[in-house]
Amino acid sequence: SASNLHAADDIAVSVKNVSMVFGDVHAVDDASFDLPEGKFLTILGPSGSGKTTLLRMIAGFDMPTRGEIFIKNQPVSAIPPHKRAIGMVFQKLALFPHMTAAENVAFPLKMRRYQVRTIPDKVQHYLELVRLGGYGERRINELSGGQQQRVAIARALVFEPDLLLLDEPLAALDRKLREEMQLEFRRIQKELGVTTINVTHDQREALVVSDEIIIMNNGAIQQKAAPVGAYRAPANAFVANFIGVTNFVEGKVSKLTDQSVEFEADGVTLSGTLVEQTDGLRVGANCSGAVRAEQIRITSRDGHLDSLDSIVQGKVIDCIFEGERVVYEILISELGDTLMRVFDHDQESHLQFGPGDDVRLGWNARDMQVFKK
Ligand code: ATP
Repeated sequence: SASNLHAADDIAVSVKNVSMVFGDVHAVDDASFDLPEGKFLTILGPSGSGKTTLLRMIAGFDMPTRGEIFIKNQPVSAIPPHKRAIGMVFQKLALFPHMTAAENVAFPLKMRRYQVRTIPDKVQHYLELVRLGGYGERRINELSGGQQQRVAIARALVFEPDLLLLDEPLAALDRKLREEMQLEFRRIQKELGVTTINVTHDQREALVVSDEIIIMNNGAIQQKAAPVGAYRAPANAFVANFIGVTNFVEGKVSKLTDQSVEFEADGVTLSGTLVEQTDGLRVGANCSGAVRAEQIRITSRDGHLDSLDSIVQGKVIDCIFEGERVVYEILISELGDTLMRVFDHDQESHLQFGPGDDVRLGWNARDMQVFKK
């Protein structure tokens, strides 16, 4: 079809087998992905997983040890950062504090020798985009933290770059402002349709802002998926553990069909679902079942959980009231003293169980992903 013929043109960034080695550290290990035009991608991973190194190579600050990066189908290794049409916002905003907001936003236009008479309108347009229309004449040190963030975004976008790179720009903000700015990034990105790559270790942020997420560990891409995909169908135990709060139960596979798997954990039979990349999982193999805290139902010892596929008995160790939910820690003696965490969002049942209470936990087979151990 026509759309297939033009597919290559729709790829904004292509990373092909890129590695970065510092001495004996493989900071990035054979990373490959394509990012279509106009999408918001988040690179998510723990500290030291290689996120910043990957972003720095895309920006042009570092050259890959191996592999090639293409922006709009052009290999960019030989192109220095300032010649790549890339806007950037980092944690350190690097605004000029003695200059006004408008002067800061005008700066990249002056550097790029835009015609002087065209500059004020463009600056005002981008200040309005970030909802600072009336703040152009304020100096940076007269603006709040959130307003400074907005100036930095306007400055990164004013020259209409092909690509916007965000390296933890929100990490230093308090939680409320950070969540507000996450939504702002998403709104602005959607409004302009600018292809964006964001780096964070905040899984909530990744789920909220992104069209696609890449999860990294030890320099290697573990999964690339839409937020819902990474959440519902983690490719491996690392991703399951990194996104959300996940309980793991270890056992041995006892029954296997196309989609479903049963396994024995200390003599208890549990049911789960196979993830795609589970080649080599056979009856008798060691496995690990993963179920998220919010997918477990809790009831009293004689309560009903009959519709659920897996049911275990436990004892409440702790319960923590968090406002919109209660977090229970439950000791499961029959699973070799496994601790499970359960989120209960039911307003009616808030704090119905306390430490020492006997309870039953249950979950559906489709909510327990089974990985090879
Ligand atoms: P963080 O979330 O803490 O910023 P990250 O995921 O961005 O971490 P990187 O900064 O990309 O991780 O680092 C990946 C690995 O490469 C780490 O082990 C780091 O110590 C190493 N590394 C990064 N830059 C250099 C460098 N210039 N020289 C040597 N090692 C480096």
